[in-house]
Amino acid sequence: MRLAVVIPCFNEERNLWRLHERLSEVLPGIADEFEVLLVDDGSTDRTLAILRELTESDPRFRYLSLSRNFGKESAMLAGLSAAEGDAVAILDADMQHPPELLGSMAELLKQGYQQVVARRTRTGEPRLRTFGTRMFYRLINRLVEVDVPDGFGDFRLLSRPAVDALLNLREYNRFSKGLFSWIGFDTAVVDYENVQREGGASSWTFRKLLDYGIDGVVSFNNKPLRLAIYVGAVCALLAFGYAGWVLISALVQANPVPGYVTIICGVVGFGGLQLLVMGVIGEYLGRIYFETKRRPHYLVKEASGLRPATAPAFE
Ligand code: UDP
Ligand code: MG
Repeated sequence: MRLAVVIPCFNEERNLWRLHERLSEVLPGIADEFEVLLVDDGSTDRTLAILRELTESDPRFRYLSLSRNFGKESAMLAGLSAAEGDAVAILDADMQHPPELLGSMAELLKQGYQQVVARRTRTGEPRLRTFGTRMFYRLINRLVEVDVPDGFGDFRLLSRPAVDALLNLREYNRFSKGLFSWIGFDTAVVDYENVQREGGASSWTFRKLLDYGIDGVVSFNNKPLRLAIYVGAVCALLAFGYAGWVLISALVQANPVPGYVTIICGVVGFGGLQLLVMGVIGEYLGRIYFETKRRPHYLVKEASGLRPATAPAFE
């Protein structure tokens, strides 16, 4: 088996040498032939300099440097497109994805599975975050047709057919957790214990997680639009019902029509609801806008052996 390992790196200067050490210990025992493809996602620290040095000293390691920070999804895509080999693994640079696990994952691939996913058990994470992610996955799985189980991350080993399938999905907004599941294929699961990040800090903020959640829901279906129809219909029915009741009570019981509070509630409530629904529509519209531009997912600034002037800007 020829194995390629894709590693997106964003400001990972503190982890790269250690990563190199661990991979050099583990990988020779797993595959006869392997290459490690490090993708620098526009880091602002010494990541690129270290990558140059590291790949110079060890030809089994290659790097690709993107012209700016395009985000992990794009960095992974860049790595996947450049990776050669019968099987491609995706790892984080911070060693939260223990490379030792690749051995048992490769075993499963040899048994005929096309995708092997490592499932993280959530220990040692802040309570609130665990709770938040639980809720997130519950919501996602409610809303999305594809199955995105909790603990499934980007730590995966993919066979060539699965990689090619992923590369054929050229959408601009990539929610890879969903894409991995969308392509299907026989998938095996391996469990591993959650590990803390080795050095540096996670680049996820609450805001980024929230945006990611919205991405997850919106990129995979149009249920929110459907929901808007239902909510709108229910509100309209309630409003008609209430109007009828007010009219009847005015005619039959000669009540003075109660007005002010009702009007304010109605105006503000419906105003809010309309804005919300417009926001949902806008989300989809924005996506269509970006998809129609057909911009590349990333630009390559330089790669092993290729310096700026000659580096191809792959799509
Ligand atoms: N990463 C990247 N581009 C980004 C953010 C992150 O390539 O814009 C990489 C990062 O270097 C790491 C992996 O994605 O290898 C996971 O990032 P991080 O550890 O920050 O996320 P977490 O583990 O907290 O989910
Ligand atoms: Mg991490």
